[in-house]
Amino acid sequence: MMSHYDIVVVGAGHAGTQMVFALTAGGFTGSIAIIGDEVTAPYERPPLTKGYLAADILSDELAFRGEAWWAGSDVERHLGTSVVAVDAKAHTVTTEDGGTIGYGTLVWSAGGEARLLRAPGAELDGVHVLRKLSDAEHVKRHVATARRAVVIGGGYIGLETAASLRKLGIEVTVVEALDRLLLRVTGDDVAAYLKARHEREGVEFLLGAGVSEILGEEGRATGVRLASGRELPADLVIVGIGLVPNVRQLAEAGAEVGNGVLVDKFCHTTLPDVYAIGDCVSFESDWVPDDRLRLESVQNANDQAKAVANTLLGKPQPYDALPWFWSHQYDDRLQTAGVLTGYDSAVLRGDPATGKFSVVYLRGDTVAAVDAINNVKDYAQSKALIGRTVPAGDSRLADPSVPLKDFLTEAQAA
Ligand code: FAD
Repeated sequence: MMSHYDIVVVGAGHAGTQMVFALTAGGFTGSIAIIGDEVTAPYERPPLTKGYLAADILSDELAFRGEAWWAGSDVERHLGTSVVAVDAKAHTVTTEDGGTIGYGTLVWSAGGEARLLRAPGAELDGVHVLRKLSDAEHVKRHVATARRAVVIGGGYIGLETAASLRKLGIEVTVVEALDRLLLRVTGDDVAAYLKARHEREGVEFLLGAGVSEILGEEGRATGVRLASGRELPADLVIVGIGLVPNVRQLAEAGAEVGNGVLVDKFCHTTLPDVYAIGDCVSFESDWVPDDRLRLESVQNANDQAKAVANTLLGKPQPYDALPWFWSHQYDDRLQTAGVLTGYDSAVLRGDPATGKFSVVYLRGDTVAAVDAINNVKDYAQSKALIGRTVPAGDSRLADPSVPLKDFLTEAQAA
């Protein structure tokens, strides 16, 4: 007999799990199933490139909630189970073992897959992506004997991994195809600060460098050949070149997709009774003008989950939470509030040489985002300032002794 649930959640990562927690905490009385293709109990991803890789956090400590919580709840967990198809008309999903599960409402939270390197040798042993706990476990096994690593991709995943590998005493070269690190996600000052910090820790950077081949012997990676012909010896290669949203099943069921599955303000897709949340979602946002956003952050996964849970609990809630993000590299803590898309000027507050500063990004005279490096005070005060206007050309914004909250008072008074 086909099983049927009032709510079926596909994807047991950050968004899917928070969805279940929010529904149960909100007193949802119907039946809930969560289906995830990973075999491990749902866990936190951010430590995979940080404390877990650098050895001080154990895999048991990553789980969102212990087995006791799941055992004590009425939520059905189907782990190690991949959903291969969605039938939007019949309101069913099909699992890879051929099973069919019916839903009243489907919540799609399948995240994304690490983008794979398309180069000869990418399949060699010793070449890894870092998206899942199983990926991190493989990397951990290799770091025990690795001496030299090449990290392909100078985004947050690549840089956090580079920092952890350096902590373990492994030589690291970061190869980035673009001419600057973190080009999509931060401004020049922060990118330059982090690059210099990594260089002080011994990381070599090759920017504007393409990879033509992973070199290997007897099935194991031994190095990386660049498009320039230069060869970098390596016994460990980490590929951190972005994410491909997992939306194929929804697209095949007729959902509109672009960079992720398209949803409205309530995270509802174009399919009846199908919501989508987390990394796989392209949503309309008031935080960027005339644009859709697809965010890869814990904040977005959690807050979209809570918004949809409220809607399903009978309290319809549009999703409009302020985006925020953090990254740890060595003992540096970067915190970002807002979205940097389409800013046209940046105001530096403080001296990066001191290791504590922030950058205010403006769209016209509206604060679009703030990056704070080791500056919790600016970060905390910036959150209320995002989306507000500040007096054009006010030089006090560049003065770190003037608290950001002072501009909030003026912005509110304006
Ligand atoms: P995920 O957490 O990826 O969960 C999706 C789940 O769905 C996965 O378990 C996947 O296997 C499963 N799935 C996929 N397809 C199917 C299918 N067909 N059937 C069943 N299950 C399926 N964000 C921050 O804000 N700060 C950080 O410091 C930070 N660090 C990070 C470090 C790493 C290494 C990674 C990988 C991410 C990091 N992030 C960070 C991003 C953050 O973890 C993600 O934004 C968040 O996990 C997104 O949640 P999600 O539920 O959309 O996707």
